[in-house]
Amino acid sequence: MPRKLHAGPIRLKRARSNVHVLVVEDDVLLGQGIEDALRRWSYTCEWVRDGAAALAAARATAFDIAVLDLGLPKVDGLGVLKALRRDKILIPVLIVTARDTLPDRIDGLDAGADDYLVKPFHLDELAARLRALHRRANGLAHRLVEAGALTLDTVAFDASYAGRTLDLSRTEFLLLRALAERAGRVVTRAALEQAMYGNAGVDSNALEVHVHALRRKLASDAIRTVRGLGYLLVKGKS
Ligand code: CA
Repeated sequence: MPRKLHAGPIRLKRARSNVHVLVVEDDVLLGQGIEDALRRWSYTCEWVRDGAAALAAARATAFDIAVLDLGLPKVDGLGVLKALRRDKILIPVLIVTARDTLPDRIDGLDAGADDYLVKPFHLDELAARLRALHRRANGLAHRLVEAGALTLDTVAFDASYAGRTLDLSRTEFLLLRALAERAGRVVTRAALEQAMYGNAGVDSNALEVHVHALRRKLASDAIRTVRGLGYLLVKGKS
């Protein structure tokens, strides 16, 4: 019997409970120690040993927290941090370093670090700092938007519908988020275009094209056209 996508019991997507940590440390013993500890504490992590690899990893993967050494090969820690912030990669960054003079700390915080831990440190201290950073980041930014059968993780850019993970482009995700945040109500064309493209001009049928794509990926009746006004995400499906 073919599996129905939108009927019957719904298999909810497992909540994202894993905290994914990027560890940037060129000292092998210390890096290994941090990695082992993170795994023991049920974090998942990726450990890289130079600044260039750190930037590549952070651009490729949505991490929840970065633990960043300052003295690194290729690109130093402050350079990494500045590049991340310039790219609007806003993950919480905990700097871990032997440089503990006040100007160093101020440089780090000015460059966009969220916290500072001076080597040598106790692993319990690291655990406490990570928990605090994660709590703070959750409070600030981590947000699930739920509307009926739809769940959006606006930080991880994950979307699921009736238990299925959706494969969305960034523009589709932004459009769907704008609809989901006002599910059951009409959202104007202007508001949707703003959500997708900011103030950059768009060609006039881009919105239709993306709505069409979303209907294909969710369900043909998930998004209703309200003529002359805009679109509405149907809320009832759950
Ligand atoms: Ca180092």
